Amino acid sequence: MTKKYDYLIVGAGLFGAVFAQQAKKNGKKVLVIDKRDSVAGNIYTEEVEGINVHKYGAHIFHTNDKEVWDFVNSFATFNRYTNSPVANYKGELYSLPFNMYTFNKMWGVVTPEEAAQKIEEQKKSAGITEPKNLEEQAISLVGTDIYEKLIKGYTQKQWGRPCTELPSFIIKRLPVRLTFDNNYFNALYQGIPMGGYTKMVENMLDGVEVKLGCDYLKNKSELDALANKVIYTGAIDAYFGYKLGALEYRSVRFETEILDKPNYQGNAVVNYTDAETPFTRIIEHKFFEFGTQPKTVISREYSSEWKLGDEPYYPVNDEKNGNLYAKYKSLAEKEKSVIFGGRLGEYKYYDMDAVIASALALCKKELV
Ligand code: UDP
Repeated sequence: MTKKYDYLIVGAGLFGAVFAQQAKKNGKKVLVIDKRDSVAGNIYTEEVEGINVHKYGAHIFHTNDKEVWDFVNSFATFNRYTNSPVANYKGELYSLPFNMYTFNKMWGVVTPEEAAQKIEEQKKSAGITEPKNLEEQAISLVGTDIYEKLIKGYTQKQWGRPCTELPSFIIKRLPVRLTFDNNYFNALYQGIPMGGYTKMVENMLDGVEVKLGCDYLKNKSELDALANKVIYTGAIDAYFGYKLGALEYRSVRFETEILDKPNYQGNAVVNYTDAETPFTRIIEHKFFEFGTQPKTVISREYSSEWKLGDEPYYPVNDEKNGNLYAKYKSLAEKEKSVIFGGRLGEYKYYDMDAVIASALALCKKELV
């Protein structure tokens, strides 16, 4: 019996939208569903006071992958936004990522040699040769002072765990530079889609059948009956009814405010890196698009442990969760007509460009 669709795509986020776009282009019949009433998953943006608000957290597109860059540029025009967050440690302001401005402010050093020497001294006196966790990795990259003021408090708030219990790869996301380059990313290409991410995803889904407010796991058998294959981008543990236990996620709560002034903090991202401030950062959305509106919209980000019913944001990729994920993954491999993808489907701290690359790689295998 032939089914109505070739693919049922569960989740209208980036992974699902890319797969849907490519599948449709290849003549496949696809249906995209999402339990939310909006497309674009966590990159969803919504206009408030003429400003595109990143409702589920700030997203800054950056990539080294020319194919991915060309791909996204065929659905949106990207502006020249370059991420340069400011760290606020008890009222002291530092440049991020860690660069000569940061080292000068922290130690008064002027040359790259002096900065390198200072880091080396601090690394030596901490006695670290082979970093075993995030704390040791951070100290060996930037020394104790920067670790204490700009990393420790922020990371512990963000992950709800001490830095000694976190994997070191998390901190490797941040560049350390002995130059005066404030660009947070090393990527060759960077920007924000003008008009918002929602519009970009809508463009990807142009002509694709999308059903919103549709919960796959609650209606699984009827929905499965519609398609030959399922692309599932929800949480992998939820798919299996958490039968091996729940994977841990960090969730984020946003306190968003409209302020009757044009400029609150002068930058899109200000991180509060001390342990006492309850939020991790404040996003001032207009600055992602060089907004000149009379008002401004800010979001304070509060990080929390995920519990059932919350939105999962960040997978906690430590050893314990890695082992549990491996078990779910082997169950997933036995589901012959289901493909798991994306940040939640693969339980992976993916950046947007890597999500797109992985969706495109799947398309090359699958859509032949
Ligand atoms: N981080 C930090 N201080 C900062 C910013 C980031 O220590 O001011 C660390 C922290 O451990 C965080 C990691 O770097 O989890 C990655 O930060 P990034 O801003 O890349 O995370 P995302 O934007 O994905 O939340």
